[in-house]
Amino acid sequence: MESGIRLGKIWGIPIGLSTSWFLVFGLLTWSLATGYFPEEYRELGTTASWFLAVVTSILFFGSVLLHELGHAYMALREKISVRAINLFIFGGVAQIEGEPQTAGAEFRIAIAGPIVSLLLAVAFGLLWLLDQTIPWLAAPSIWLARINLILAIFNMIPGFPLDGGRVLRAAVWQFTGSFRKANRVAALSGQLVAFGFIGLGIMIILRGNLFNGLWLIFIGWFLQSAAASSYAQSTMQQTLQSLLVAQVMTPQWPQIPSKTPLSLLMQDQILRGGPRYAFLARDGYGRDETDRRPLGMLSLTDVSHVPQASWPFTPAEQVMVPWEKLVVVQARMDLLNALRVMGEANVAQVPVLDDAEQMVGVLSREQVLQTIRLRAQLRV
Ligand SMILES: [Zn+2]
Repeated sequence: MESGIRLGKIWGIPIGLSTSWFLVFGLLTWSLATGYFPEEYRELGTTASWFLAVVTSILFFGSVLLHELGHAYMALREKISVRAINLFIFGGVAQIEGEPQTAGAEFRIAIAGPIVSLLLAVAFGLLWLLDQTIPWLAAPSIWLARINLILAIFNMIPGFPLDGGRVLRAAVWQFTGSFRKANRVAALSGQLVAFGFIGLGIMIILRGNLFNGLWLIFIGWFLQSAAASSYAQSTMQQTLQSLLVAQVMTPQWPQIPSKTPLSLLMQDQILRGGPRYAFLARDGYGRDETDRRPLGMLSLTDVSHVPQASWPFTPAEQVMVPWEKLVVVQARMDLLNALRVMGEANVAQVPVLDDAEQMVGVLSREQVLQTIRLRAQLRV
């Protein structure tokens, strides 16, 4: 992610401001103070123009934030968590966890942002109607009304991942009943719109306006890469959500006596290309069949924290993570959720439990990746 500062939290969602946003803020304030305000409202002095420019830029930032909060609010209502809201050079992004489960939810989350922008445009427009005779109120309100209207319209361009592209995806999804098809159509629309921007940018440059042309090409290029990566991500998330841990886990796991020296584990298993972890049996080999829970788990990372010279004298139980402290996943969880749990705990493999809380397998990140790759190759 880009570097930036944290502004705080709203509804538990961290709000971030990327460093690139300060560039926009500076440029915007400067162009309002030296261009728009003095040209449209001559009666404002230089100081007032600069002051109003700063206030207007802050209100513009607030408008973008409210647009993103619109998406976030709907996502939370649909029981989808929002990881963060980030404001950067092209506006804002609400990072929503996972894909909506229904076309209706996708539509509501996507449309909420432009609706907020439209309402803001109307509100600032009304304010302008009321205060036309007072220049220091009229100037910012008409500019904010216009920019919010532009935000609403621009975001409704039907090119994924713009809001309009998401609305299009929801519509195709609703109409065909297939998320895959909808996702493909949306990705294509995103590419078309992106190349449209680039083409328009080139035309404008040929007509002599280098800055505006380059800006459009920049936006097009950004949309194109965003469309491609969102498509890949949606496809991946869809696959992960459609699979259960039980379908991918390994139902066997390496089990060693608790006193096994680390050197033996390394020689006999890990250095031979076997699994990079082992479970420690309760009471050596003769374990109680009704309790399949091991004593603990040992991974290559745990072993690597011990100096190699001590491996022959260090029993596995001394380095293991005890069962009670292990991060576990449920066999009935979907893979997306399981990967999230593993990601948060920063572990490469976890024991899998059934409904009776007994261990039934192991899930590793490597395995998940292999499964995804294989399924993509076989198109299943
Ligand atoms: Zn939006």
